Amino acid sequence: MKVLVPVKRVVDANVRVRVKADGSGADVANVKFSMNPFDEISVEEAVRLKEAGAATEVVAVSCGVQGCQETLRTAMATGADRGILVETDVELQPLAVARLLKALVDKEQPQLVMLGKQAIDDDANQVGQMLAALLDWPQATFASKVEIDGGKAVVTREIDGGLETIEVDLPAVITADLRLNTPRYASLPNIMKAKKKPLDVVKPDALGVDVAPRLQTLKVTEPPKREPGVRVADAAELVAKLRSVAQVI
Ligand code: AMP
Repeated sequence: MKVLVPVKRVVDANVRVRVKADGSGADVANVKFSMNPFDEISVEEAVRLKEAGAATEVVAVSCGVQGCQETLRTAMATGADRGILVETDVELQPLAVARLLKALVDKEQPQLVMLGKQAIDDDANQVGQMLAALLDWPQATFASKVEIDGGKAVVTREIDGGLETIEVDLPAVITADLRLNTPRYASLPNIMKAKKKPLDVVKPDALGVDVAPRLQTLKVTEPPKREPGVRVADAAELVAKLRSVAQVI
């Protein structure tokens, strides 16, 4: 079973993102980029499937600028066998990514596509669902446990107020939730080995996909600043302030 794992290059989760002065978007000049944290989890899961003998090959895919090669090398350092970069400088929106992945699935014929549930930069939570629709494959989103059983996947999903277990026929699309696993760190020897693993570069045109943005960002703003708190002397003052200042009672 071949597993395709889409990995997105995003601004590192520890960077405090600032909005550009003209409000046209986030200022990402000179900030650190890393693999989307949910994609680290899906790579780990795919590699575990390979180690358990359920998968034979793990192929990492990233769509975006040349710098995504770094993200692919990270995926290969933690166990992916090879990488594919769909290279473009165009800002990719979820539908464009889903179409690129669909074209790669047609070419690579994996039995499983294992994505993150969400990219932490656009917070879209759309690509996996759109890809499943384009492929007309079953989907199991927000997975917290995955078991491959012959031609089926048994997936436990995190839903409001509990867990749901579903069975989907392969080929299928699965998206990883936070509690699926704890991703391993890449060891230095594996980082070195990853440099020699195959990495193919294709352009969206070669896949016959139009990636032009369909959505226009009107404005991006910082969240409102939190007002500092006030210390009150006693309960009477608190009640007075709740009544006159906060006007909640
Ligand atoms: P989103 O729908 O944008 O929140 O992203 C959900 C998942 O789709 C991510 O966790 C990735 O697995 C995948 N994905 C999104 N954008 C890309 C990209 N540019 N390249 C590769 N995978 C992506």
